[in-house]
Amino acid sequence: MHAITDGATRAAELAERDLRVVWHPCTQMKDHESLPLIALKSGSGPWLEDYAGKRYLDAVSSWWVNLFGHANPRISGAVAEQAQRLEHAIFAGFTHEPAVRLGERLRALAPPGLTRCFFADNGSAAVEVALKMSFHYWRNVGRPGKTRFITLANSYHGETLGALAVGDVDLYKSLYKPLLMDVITAPSPDCYHREPGESWQDHSARRFEAMERLLERHAGEVAAVIVEPLVQCAGGMRMYHPRYLSLLRDACTRHGVHLIADEIAVGFGRTGTMFACEQAGITPDLMCLSKGLTGGYLPLSAVLATEDIYAAFYDDYVKLNAFLHSHSYTGNPIACAAANATLDVFAEDRAIERNRATAAYLGRRARELEALAHVAEVRQTGMIVAVELVRDRATREPYPWSERRGRRIHRHALANGVLLRPIGDVVYFMPPYVVGEPEIDLMIRVAAEGIELATCD
Ligand SMILES: *Cc1c(COP(=O)(O)O)cnc(C)c1O
Repeated sequence: MHAITDGATRAAELAERDLRVVWHPCTQMKDHESLPLIALKSGSGPWLEDYAGKRYLDAVSSWWVNLFGHANPRISGAVAEQAQRLEHAIFAGFTHEPAVRLGERLRALAPPGLTRCFFADNGSAAVEVALKMSFHYWRNVGRPGKTRFITLANSYHGETLGALAVGDVDLYKSLYKPLLMDVITAPSPDCYHREPGESWQDHSARRFEAMERLLERHAGEVAAVIVEPLVQCAGGMRMYHPRYLSLLRDACTRHGVHLIADEIAVGFGRTGTMFACEQAGITPDLMCLSKGLTGGYLPLSAVLATEDIYAAFYDDYVKLNAFLHSHSYTGNPIACAAANATLDVFAEDRAIERNRATAAYLGRRARELEALAHVAEVRQTGMIVAVELVRDRATREPYPWSERRGRRIHRHALANGVLLRPIGDVVYFMPPYVVGEPEIDLMIRVAAEGIELATCD
């Protein structure tokens, strides 16, 4: 028999049981000696609710996955229906309607020329697939010397060893370096570092010169360049101009190197267009998708490839050219059904169009934070807005990382019903697309208070 307990008791009990058995992601578990673990009961729209009935505005879309709100009836309905019909089946030798439909729709939506869809089950796995496909392609066409990758400084592509190797966020990477393949790192086009008076476009184009030189020098041994188009999200929501991508596309073609676009975080409308690559008018050779793909419901990822890449693997089995990569849950029908329902919502609600007004309001309100003494910059790309905090605004000297000022903002926001999760000293807003103006007002007010509290000493 369950004891009759009120919500607060239930929440405390769950948190206590959790801390006896569960190991949480991206967390120093000792922090929970002072920061309570919150036990969630439900979600609705942009809100999460705990057992005590307290609500939290999900200003980070639960790590950038949620698009159309929690417990969205249309997506939940599609998931429930698919679960009754076919929950999962081996995806080698078998197929099903949700995967076929999703593949067709992704192909129709993606930049032209990405005709083939390979499924995996999370973002890091998609990055591994893209890296392996690129390397393997060059082997299949008789260029086995192309074994290396070029990546951008401050990039992030996931946590598995291959994905970690092509990333460049020291906090996650440096400890594991002895385990990682060696990559070539180009300077980031990140416009936070532009010269005073320099435009985003000029800065990003200028930063491209180093990439061009690396390609000239290394093209013979490089399989692919991998980038996060327009926004380096885990690297602190650092942003750059689409011009960099068009220059990069052109150079990769000239040098015979693949371009891998990791749209795992920026895809599905985040930057103002369905895919960030559209803003540069380019088609990458490989494109990685995950996170928003299922509207934040279920783990699923996809790698879209050109027909040229697909064709290089298509041969008699005994040639051993096939891409023998698989994950147990490849093409999971329930996840594909969630993705199809998410794409339905995009069309029915004209979400990309509606986001324009939401993003304009969010940006306008967020720019008010520029008035605060320790705000160096407020920047925006579509539905991503970031606020960079510094110790000294004139020199842009950062706070020592160990002071963990962002964490103070996190705590203040939670206490006031908003989930903000700064990356270091970068406070960012990346809400679900269903966020309303009063909710944006709340987010900005709580962030402003939190920033003042965290920077007053
Ligand atoms: C989150 C992320 C990944 C990794 O996805 P997971 O599903 O967390 O493995 C890869 N690339 C980018 C750009 C991301 O933001």
